[in-house]
Amino acid sequence: MAIEHYKMFIDGKWVESSSGQAFDVINPATEEVIAKVPLGTRDDARHAIDSARKAFDSGVWPDKTPMERSNILWSIAEIVEKNSLRLAQLESKNVGKTIKYARDSDLPFIIDNLKFFSGAIRNMEGRAAMNYSGMGLSVIKREPIGVVSAIIPWNYPLYIAIWKIAPALAAGNTLVIKPASYTPITLLEFAKLTEKILPKGVFNVVTGPGETIGTELASNSKVDMVAVTGDISTGKKIMQMASSNVKKVHLELGGKAPFIVLPDASIDAATEGAIVSAFWNTAQDCTASTRVYVHESIHNKFVETLVKKAKKIRIGDPSNESTDMGPLVSAKQRDRTEQYVKLGIKEGAKLAFGGNRPKGIKRGFYFEPTIFTNVEQKMRICQEEIFGPVLSVMKYKTIDEAVEKANDVVYGLAASVWGKDITQLTNIANRLRFGEVWINEHGVLVSEMPHGGYKQSGFGKDLSIYSLEEYTQIKHIYIDTTGLARKPWYYVVYGDKG
Ligand code: NAD
Repeated sequence: MAIEHYKMFIDGKWVESSSGQAFDVINPATEEVIAKVPLGTRDDARHAIDSARKAFDSGVWPDKTPMERSNILWSIAEIVEKNSLRLAQLESKNVGKTIKYARDSDLPFIIDNLKFFSGAIRNMEGRAAMNYSGMGLSVIKREPIGVVSAIIPWNYPLYIAIWKIAPALAAGNTLVIKPASYTPITLLEFAKLTEKILPKGVFNVVTGPGETIGTELASNSKVDMVAVTGDISTGKKIMQMASSNVKKVHLELGGKAPFIVLPDASIDAATEGAIVSAFWNTAQDCTASTRVYVHESIHNKFVETLVKKAKKIRIGDPSNESTDMGPLVSAKQRDRTEQYVKLGIKEGAKLAFGGNRPKGIKRGFYFEPTIFTNVEQKMRICQEEIFGPVLSVMKYKTIDEAVEKANDVVYGLAASVWGKDITQLTNIANRLRFGEVWINEHGVLVSEMPHGGYKQSGFGKDLSIYSLEEYTQIKHIYIDTTGLARKPWYYVVYGDKG
């Protein structure tokens, strides 16, 4: 199979790494090298930042009207739409996600997101108001922040990149973006699609390790804002680095989502929801349900139904239409999952399903959907983000206990609660310390509604008008309407003499 050789996109040009080195990109389903990508250096990252800075300061992008930026984003959405099947196939090949998921979920959402922010920027209003004292008129403007750097994880390479690209560009910022090294391909393909649409320097893609390139993007003083989706430990380091010039920081970090099942919940609906939300994208999702708290009265029936459904998950080649679950993104991620399963068993949890590499699949980083019961709150499989297909099921007696345990992790991204009484469900949702709570659902995101965490899951919202606001800063312009040489408040300084 032909190996594609990519370059980085800096200042409107396709360039190799200044070190001359490249790294391999692997298909996790076959373990074959599918591409070579430049191993960028800090110098390359600086070059990209300088180019974004120059483009921003020249006004070529921020000075465009909202209508002009809106039209450009719309044309990007259209070109992505024309190429969506090819992009979905590449995403599937690079991440190992099933083709049906990449094609029918990632890509439609990417296109919708570009269109949403194309529209939203035309609705972003400042405000104008008479000053209370009647001496002036205040104008509140929303302006772009400047140069934004964005650092992207590997689980939704293009989709999460678009969560940053669309609002940042819509608001008039220029951008340097870094994909995760496992999955750089679709972002580079996206840059190819947009190279003739966006002015030079407005959009730059650099590839290479977080420790070098990512560090430069987070610490360089020409960058005004850094937006990151990644692990909590990465977010903490980036926050520290960003403090060098007090950059604005936008962090979307990990999750360990609880899934609370009340005694009156439909077992069929709740188990269906738990299976899908625990194992979609091979569980490499920050909102994936990972801790199911089931009322003791229905626990056994729930587990029995859950296991029956887990048995039906078809693992295999992600390019196959009938596959439900592909491999994990890397050997490292598969091994990490395996280690957590061993740890769960050692800690005393009971394996109700899975727990192994699937038999009969010789290549690829596959792991079975795995369900633990008898899990205790303090166990590491309950407290730590595994980012692999491992679901823990726990019993509870009272609602207070379920809420307390659901909240008892450092994460606060997403949660769900299942049952029949809407008043009770809403009260529980109010008590959950998570940025996103679903009722009788787990996992739905839409472009119009915000997504983002509480606690160590970070701050700053993706999606929605709240995200667009994140990529702007507020300016207050005050216009004197008295026309007086000596304004009334000057008397506070001068007294009323003179
Ligand atoms: P990661 O933190 O290892 O890497 C994320 C990105 O940060 C990569 O591009 C990486 O190269 C870069 N990076 C790593 N170290 C860096 C450093 N020291 N300085 C600057 N950049 C650095 O995360 P991952 O393994 O790619 O992704 C999985 C994580 O992302 C999970 O914790 C998951 O929960 C989280 N995630 C969160 C959301 C959300 O919306 N909250 C969405 C998806 C994934």
